[in-house]
Amino acid sequence: MTSRRSEDGVPFLDLRAMNDEVADDVDAAWQEVLSNTTFIGGPAVERFEEAWARYCGTRFAVGVGNGTDALALALRALDIGLGAEVILPANTFVATVEAVVAAGATPRFVDVDPATLLMSATAVEAAVTPDTAAVIVVHLYGQVSDMDALARVADRAGIVLLEDAAQAHGATWRSKKAGSLGRAGCFSFYPGKNLGAYGDAGAIVTDDRDLAERVRSLADHGRAPSSKHLHPLAGINSRLDALQGAVLTAKLARLDGWNAARREAVRAYRDRLQGAGVRLLRGIAGGIGAHHLEVVRVPRRDEVRAALARDGVQTALHYPVPCHKQEPYERFSFAPLPVVEQAAKEILSLPLFPHITGAQIEQVSNSLESAVRQDARAHAS
Ligand SMILES: *Cc1c(COP(=O)(O)O)cnc(C)c1O
Repeated sequence: MTSRRSEDGVPFLDLRAMNDEVADDVDAAWQEVLSNTTFIGGPAVERFEEAWARYCGTRFAVGVGNGTDALALALRALDIGLGAEVILPANTFVATVEAVVAAGATPRFVDVDPATLLMSATAVEAAVTPDTAAVIVVHLYGQVSDMDALARVADRAGIVLLEDAAQAHGATWRSKKAGSLGRAGCFSFYPGKNLGAYGDAGAIVTDDRDLAERVRSLADHGRAPSSKHLHPLAGINSRLDALQGAVLTAKLARLDGWNAARREAVRAYRDRLQGAGVRLLRGIAGGIGAHHLEVVRVPRRDEVRAALARDGVQTALHYPVPCHKQEPYERFSFAPLPVVEQAAKEILSLPLFPHITGAQIEQVSNSLESAVRQDARAHAS
């Protein structure tokens, strides 16, 4: 994660204004943790779990150590492991496939829709085999997938629908929150996410009590709910710290406001970049995104990116090497994925955070427009 102060340039991400807003609340909650000395779990974590479940509109939320564990533990709790196939898009953060492999299951990558870069229900349906146990929907960049169509396909195929909502805190599909739309929703609270902790953190939300209890046990050394000394499951250690619970509770109160500020910033970018020679992503009607990232597509991306860097505009790439091209996962590549592969060469993530200013957006846009025009001229002659 890059978070750098720059006098004339524009940083890709600046978390300080968010931290300043919650500093007093975090200090007070941290003093409470220091006096009760429950550093893992305890009241600060329970308060956050209750608040997060309420916010997501689910019955249960279980805090865990990070988003990758949230995904792997959800799969393990559902007994999706050896011999089971799990469908997922290839253009996601590597953690999605990593979790599938950690659970012992076989990933099956699919291509995405060229307009949204999200996995379509048709592609999922075509990838189902007799061994398919689940599909993981990734709300990439904070955009929401067509959950009605995906739920229909999952139902028809008799497979579990899981959400990787690590980039979609507060996004909605037909007024329901991302994470509440499948059997379970998995979140990361990595510091750079829309709801970010002061270290690693994650959670699973679900309406399924058994699933929530199994995840809680698996994340706490497989411990029985009724006994500190019995371990009926072979678990791991992936618990949420009190500090992170306190930070996340304080930040949750501001999440909707911060997401609204992101949405405004994205609106400003898109108004300004109409006709500027870049391709914008489309959303799906019915979804309201959380705008974790603002990704545009440009030809000869690396040249354009270098020109922006010379202007002091910091950008990032999500993700230039698709999962099925990463060495450990190449063997799960069953078919070419042309949309993902082409997009990987063109995508460029622009600076975006709740406190980005209009002047910063203007500066990024000016720099981007002139870089694209200059590059086009250079290649026309
Ligand atoms: C961040 C992220 C994760 C993993 O989260 P960690 O907390 O870093 O383990 C998983 N999936 C996606 C799409 C992410 O963006």
